[in-house]
Amino acid sequence: MYQGVTRAIVEALREIAGEGEVLVDAEEMEPYTHDEVVGLRADPEVVVRATSAHQVSEILKLAQRVRVPVTPRGAGMGLSGGAVPVCGGIILSLEKMNRILEIDQDNLMVTVEPGVIVEDIHRAVEAEGLFYPPDPASLDSCSIGGNVAEGAGGPRAVKYGVTQHYVCGLEAVLPSGEIITCGGKLVKNVTGYNLIQLLIGSEGTLAVVTKIVLRLLPLPKVRVDLLVPYDDFQAAADTVSGIIAHRIVPATIEFMERDSLQAVEKLLQKELPYRDAEAYLLIQLDGNRPEAVDADFELVGELCLEHGARDVLVARDTRTRDRLWEARRLIIEALNHESPVNHMEDVVVPRAEIPMLLKGIKQIAERHGVRTVCFGHAGDGNVHVNVLKDDIPDGRWEALVPAVTEGIYRLALSLGGAITGEHGVGATRRQYLPLALERAQIEVMRGIRDAFDPNRILNPGKIFP
Ligand SMILES: Cc1cc2nc3c(=O)[nH]c(=O)nc-3n(C[C@H](O)[C@H](O)[C@H](O)COP(=O)(O)OP(=O)(O)OC[C@H]3O[C@@H](n4cnc5c(N)ncnc54)[C@H](O)[C@@H]3O)c2cc1C
Repeated sequence: MYQGVTRAIVEALREIAGEGEVLVDAEEMEPYTHDEVVGLRADPEVVVRATSAHQVSEILKLAQRVRVPVTPRGAGMGLSGGAVPVCGGIILSLEKMNRILEIDQDNLMVTVEPGVIVEDIHRAVEAEGLFYPPDPASLDSCSIGGNVAEGAGGPRAVKYGVTQHYVCGLEAVLPSGEIITCGGKLVKNVTGYNLIQLLIGSEGTLAVVTKIVLRLLPLPKVRVDLLVPYDDFQAAADTVSGIIAHRIVPATIEFMERDSLQAVEKLLQKELPYRDAEAYLLIQLDGNRPEAVDADFELVGELCLEHGARDVLVARDTRTRDRLWEARRLIIEALNHESPVNHMEDVVVPRAEIPMLLKGIKQIAERHGVRTVCFGHAGDGNVHVNVLKDDIPDGRWEALVPAVTEGIYRLALSLGGAITGEHGVGATRRQYLPLALERAQIEVMRGIRDAFDPNRILNPGKIFP
């Protein structure tokens, strides 16, 4: 169905993007063969780094003409293989389109190119007293284009929502090469179907995003972080439900099992407080009035202790806070260090079901004789489950991963949840789509994909089984 990349195609790409932005050397292309999924790799035939929407358009027109697949790529930090070129062809990297174009103080909007690193947006708007809340744990290295394509979330989703709640405008290039502009600096807009929301989370299968307008908030003036250790894993999970039941919505409620923080300790070679605790919550409260934040903080502290917390450690200064969050953000890297072969899941359930989910995951792990480490965004019901290979023999591990995965998915679905909360379907979860969605939904989605991309050149081998 697809054609290979010929010398003439490489030459045409050089004409479009310039000699230095087209890579064909295997060593130079190596970083583009994978994302952050352990063990998934595929070789592109050529990598092209676009620097404008016009170039993206010309590249897609060329790919259409010659029927070569194109895999869009941001920073390659994905956790579902979305940017891995599983059908070969062209990697279309957006990394060079990395300018913050405008911070509009009057409309509280920022306009960016897709390759901007998310933390750079945070820094730039915070310097102006503004706030872009979505904060994936990978924010120091993932791109905003990748966040839009994945519908990325982060710890602050509990209170502030996820990427899709902030995108007001998009410029995108259709697989035909046509450039479209959806929305703009508009807080409301109901003109026709909402293509912005359709493109968000479409994982690079419908269009290539080339410009993004994001809504901003005023930066909260007060922030307090609490690290709460527990001797009982279930007590920490129950606290999450307890806090929400008291009508308090913290900015974050992160959950971490002991093994996750101990892996971080090993990586950082630093001792963390209460290192023998079974589980921890990392809770952030924020607001504009110190009295209001303090009142919530007192109540949350009491609730934690009532649920059996060993202590409530408070971080009010930036240095202590940064240390806590550094530890949280390093968990995935630390677990990869501890067990270089591992498997990560990203299920989400209604947040009140978190205790049942965590209990069920431990039962599945016990049944299969495997070590799981759970951590993640407990406040919004999204738990990351790391299944570690440790010293399990290869053959047994290969049989075990699909069985454990399916068990975890069935458990999450039975609790009214979904198989992925923020990492996407990509290449790694696509065979499970029929487990998660009705046939009719999958058919409608296929129809949408085919309406955008009848020749299926854009990111094939993703989402659909
Ligand atoms: C340590 C770690 C922590 C993480 N924490 C979180 C977290 O808290 N929350 C969360 O949601 N995710 C998290 N992730 C996953 C990952 O960072 C996000 O999925 C992020 O959105 C990926 O962005 P990227 O730029 O690296 O995208 P890539 O990996 O390059 O691409 C991801 C997908 O987006 C598509 N794509 C990229 N750019 C474009 C574009 N301009 N137009 C169209 N399609 C495009 C690609 O084709 C691919 O399908 C984490 C990952 C790691 C490694």
